[in-house]
Amino acid sequence: MTLANLRDVLAPAAENGYAVAGFVVLGWEDALAYTQAAEETGKPIILQAGPGSRRHTPAPVLGAMFRHLAEQASVPVVCHIDHARSIEECREGIDCGFTSVMFDGSDRPIEENIALTSQISEEAHRAGVSVEGEVGFVGYAEGKASAMTSVEEAALFDRESGADAMAISVGNVHLQTEAEARIDMDRLREIEAATAMPLVLHGGSGIASEKRRELATTSRVCKFNIGTELRQAFGRALRQSLKDNAQSFDRIELLKPVIPAIRQETVKVISGLSQ
Ligand SMILES: [Zn+2]
Repeated sequence: MTLANLRDVLAPAAENGYAVAGFVVLGWEDALAYTQAAEETGKPIILQAGPGSRRHTPAPVLGAMFRHLAEQASVPVVCHIDHARSIEECREGIDCGFTSVMFDGSDRPIEENIALTSQISEEAHRAGVSVEGEVGFVGYAEGKASAMTSVEEAALFDRESGADAMAISVGNVHLQTEAEARIDMDRLREIEAATAMPLVLHGGSGIASEKRRELATTSRVCKFNIGTELRQAFGRALRQSLKDNAQSFDRIELLKPVIPAIRQETVKVISGLSQ
């Protein structure tokens, strides 16, 4: 079994100049495909249950599914709650067997964000669970605009929050369907100089794959959240399957072909985060 938390996978990544992918899981087929791709590449991954996924499938079900996959895998697999907005949501994640939680206090004043992250970190660490926080605000394509991470706030969070990783906003945007994000390298370098903890970029699908590799190998960004581009792979594969099996009404028959299709795209994403 290779159940891991963020500390287990991000420390070696930071040290050896590569990054780990955090994959947005929406169901069994994509979770299985991501884990198969991790096995195929021999690289660790982070399975992530975000708010949309937790609204669709209860957290205890997702926790058990992630742990099952992690326990079968020969590579480290982190079972992570993405964008929890309260202490209660983080606690639920810990109780459901997740090995890692993201507390998203990005809409709160920095002092409050740090105080809550620190409280969650203390509780989570006692349970062997790692914590990711967010400073600044990573906006959404066709939604709320980003607020760039301030260097001073990042430095304060780094010293006082007790978190294991920090998500930052430096031009990355959630839910981009094209790789059109422009990363502010000056701001990223300033944040790196003022902090010590591993840095995380959400909205990884909006960052061109060459840029992801450059950041993964030459900066302290060692976790990229990847959702949209693999959801696109899922949608394409499912449409093809519906066409190929026009007479079928069996859910398993219709969904099975999406697994190798997602796996193939996932291998490319994972391989693109190291030299
Ligand atoms: Zn996010």
